[in-house]
Amino acid sequence: MSFLLWLILFVGAGLTLAYQRAGLRRSTLLMGGLVLAYVIFGDGSLLWKAVLVALAAGMAALNLDDLRREHVTRPLLAKYRKLLPSMSETERQALDAGTVWWDGELFSGAPDWNKLLSVPTPRLSIEERTFLDGPVNELCSMLDDWEITHQRADLPPEVWAFLKKQGFFAMIIPKKYGGLEFSALAHSSVLAKIAGRSVTAASIVAVPNSLGPAELLHKYGTEEQKDYYLPRLARGDDVPCFALTSPRAGSDATSITDSGVVCHGTWEGRETLGIRLNWDKRYITLAPVATILGLAFRLYDPERLLGGETDIGITCALIPTHLPGVQIGRRHFPLNVPFQNGPTQGKDVFVPIDAIIGGPSMVGHGWKMLVERLAVGRCVSLPSNASGGAKAAVALTGAYARLRRQFGMPIGRFEAVEEVLARIAGRAYIMEATRVMTVGALDLGEEPAVPSAIVKYHLTELGRHVANDAMDIHGGKGIMLGPRNYLARGYQGVPIMITVEGANILTRGMIIYGQGAIRCHPFVLRELRAAQDADEDRGLREFDSALMGHIGYALSNAARSLVLATTFARWSDVPVHGPTRRYYQHINRFAASFALVSDTAMLLLGGKLKKKEMLSARLGDILSFMYLASAVLKRFEDQGRPDADLPLVTWACRDLLYCAQERLHGIIRNFPNRFVAALLRVLVFPAGRDYYMPSDRLEHKIASLVVNATETRARLTEGLYDVVEPRNPLGLMNEALRLADIADPLEKRVRKAAKDGQIAEREFPEMIDAAVAAGVLDEAEGRELHEFDTRVMALMAVDDFDPEELARVQLTPERHAQTERRVASG
Ligand SMILES: Cc1cc2nc3c(=O)[nH]c(=O)nc-3n(C[C@H](O)[C@H](O)[C@H](O)COP(=O)(O)OP(=O)(O)OC[C@H]3O[C@@H](n4cnc5c(N)ncnc54)[C@H](O)[C@@H]3O)c2cc1C
Repeated sequence: MSFLLWLILFVGAGLTLAYQRAGLRRSTLLMGGLVLAYVIFGDGSLLWKAVLVALAAGMAALNLDDLRREHVTRPLLAKYRKLLPSMSETERQALDAGTVWWDGELFSGAPDWNKLLSVPTPRLSIEERTFLDGPVNELCSMLDDWEITHQRADLPPEVWAFLKKQGFFAMIIPKKYGGLEFSALAHSSVLAKIAGRSVTAASIVAVPNSLGPAELLHKYGTEEQKDYYLPRLARGDDVPCFALTSPRAGSDATSITDSGVVCHGTWEGRETLGIRLNWDKRYITLAPVATILGLAFRLYDPERLLGGETDIGITCALIPTHLPGVQIGRRHFPLNVPFQNGPTQGKDVFVPIDAIIGGPSMVGHGWKMLVERLAVGRCVSLPSNASGGAKAAVALTGAYARLRRQFGMPIGRFEAVEEVLARIAGRAYIMEATRVMTVGALDLGEEPAVPSAIVKYHLTELGRHVANDAMDIHGGKGIMLGPRNYLARGYQGVPIMITVEGANILTRGMIIYGQGAIRCHPFVLRELRAAQDADEDRGLREFDSALMGHIGYALSNAARSLVLATTFARWSDVPVHGPTRRYYQHINRFAASFALVSDTAMLLLGGKLKKKEMLSARLGDILSFMYLASAVLKRFEDQGRPDADLPLVTWACRDLLYCAQERLHGIIRNFPNRFVAALLRVLVFPAGRDYYMPSDRLEHKIASLVVNATETRARLTEGLYDVVEPRNPLGLMNEALRLADIADPLEKRVRKAAKDGQIAEREFPEMIDAAVAAGVLDEAEGRELHEFDTRVMALMAVDDFDPEELARVQLTPERHAQTERRVASG
């Protein structure tokens, strides 16, 4: 046999074993057998044969566990311990928070699709559906966003009362305390529906159901605290807020300097052990109207009254806002989305030690509590608001693009507008699919820390793109503020979603991959824990087992990346047939390449990777895009594979996986070690970048799906408040869209008559009359077209104001001086 054939045999056997993740023993047997065959039948030199035999012997020796542990693993473990990046206690707590879910499968480089496909389709209970169709619809019909955002800068009192009475602030509170005890899906669907109507109202409803007193009490509170506070919160007798952020501590929230000192003081006339608190917080949602303040502060016990450390660490307590020393009531003005938000200060406020959430045993556990709850809450509030807003944007913009005519035809038929419409629709599909899949995971008991960061970041970013695109298609109609503008407040509110619950730049650069690399990796956390094990022998055994697994995993990912990229993943095994099969296979390919590049980056950069935020962000993006694409595929299955939705599914998968490819390329292009980068390029892109963006033809199809009253459009915008009533633009737009199917042929006849010279008039209403007179339309058709035109023009109209009406505050000399003084004093 020629040298070339032997080479093919060796490389083929190696790749097959690695691709299939064969164990060390099986690989040794096969490769050893091959070497033996080569020694007997091969015609290579003696030296070459000796090298191969030595390699096979080395491989065989690795199978002897004791020998390997002593002579290979022990020295490696010693080196690994020296390289271990330092980790603060707060970082450790963040890593321990939550569970690993589908993110772990994607990280493995070979996701088991059966696991995702067997997850039951998330469904609302009858009670939850009734709430959405009843009180939520009633709320939506009460909301007048212009009145809320411009005239009152608040919700009207009757809306506040309705929210409290119907339990909107108690969706996460158990029934036994008077709450609604909704599933995460229902909670999220309520927020999404309200967000499609008023971002301000959605933000107000989101906060008490998010990370805050109710959530913290429910999970960590003492029975006494729960029994007292939860019914009050459920009834709306108490309005909660949660105060963590302070002027010097924003993203770096663990650096708060707000303090509590353990001491004796007087509480309700009795001497008691308690805490004297001082704080200065800002940006706190609901603070101006809160009656109970969840406060995060650093607790000190200089006199060791609690018997432990003097610097105890971050602690959370509940502070009634009527206490002497609490300042509350002033408001910030967040970007014309005037939900209640403001600063609060506390000066020497004394509370008993029982005010600590969970009681004295929870001192110093504040940060752990916060990151654990954030692992859940982050995937509900903001993603639901973003997805609800995006669905509303699709419904409104699709209809607008059909009804608004320029150059004699609907603007939604111009190719350049179609491209933007397709983007909006594709992104809304991704957002809704990801929202539903992730809250569904919460309802199954998962607390998916990494997906929650992915979902928070990507849904709010996609929301930003959708808002921009929707504004562009609306032209001046989107820009002129007033009661008729249904887009601008959502557009203005986008940066709020981007900033809160982990500002997005930080979430992308530090959190998604920073947590994912250790949490989701099948071996890294095991290695880390083994290296830190105080029991030397147990640590060595565990490290050895994790290390062997890790080496096999790395070799396998290299082989899988090369094979899947070379074959376009065409033969990759996935459990789905039909038009979406290829996308499962493509994700398999990118998962293998991602796992390879991620491992290489961790190996070569170690702890420095934490500071290489640009690389880390791109790695996080790839994981995220695969997560989002999985959600799209899962939604398509869960909805019964409707053929009509395939253009959206195709667009979403193509767009996400194209972006994943570009990020992979970006990492290799910027990888600090150029030799390794060249090697990675061969393994990841043997034929160059070969994944393409969605085609123009596909975008044309999608645009026509959303500018017409199709089933796909209805499915995509399901769950919004679309009742046809005078102040609901969504209901009115949907109605006009349905009528457009009747009006369009009539209008065509009128325009043709004008073109043929039968009609001389130029203004459309007069053209209709002339068309009736000329017999182009009969009387009834003329009336119908007039009505339709009036309806459309009302929807296209914008507001104008008296100059005095716009100057809302009369600038008296006193008021001017007051503002000047405030600015000057900083
Ligand atoms: C409308 C609104 C409501 C809010 N509600 C509450 C509330 O109810 N309770 C509460 O406690 N807080 C609340 N916040 C505070 C919010 O959580 C913080 O604004 C947020 O944590 C960011 O802090 P910062 O604004 O000080 O920005 P900074 O921390 O100063 O960050 C500025 C920029 O730098 C980036 N950045 C910072 N560090 C890094 C890093 N290491 N790597 C990469 N990028 C980095 C950030 O991503 C951001 O883009 C609210 C804020 C707003 C605007």
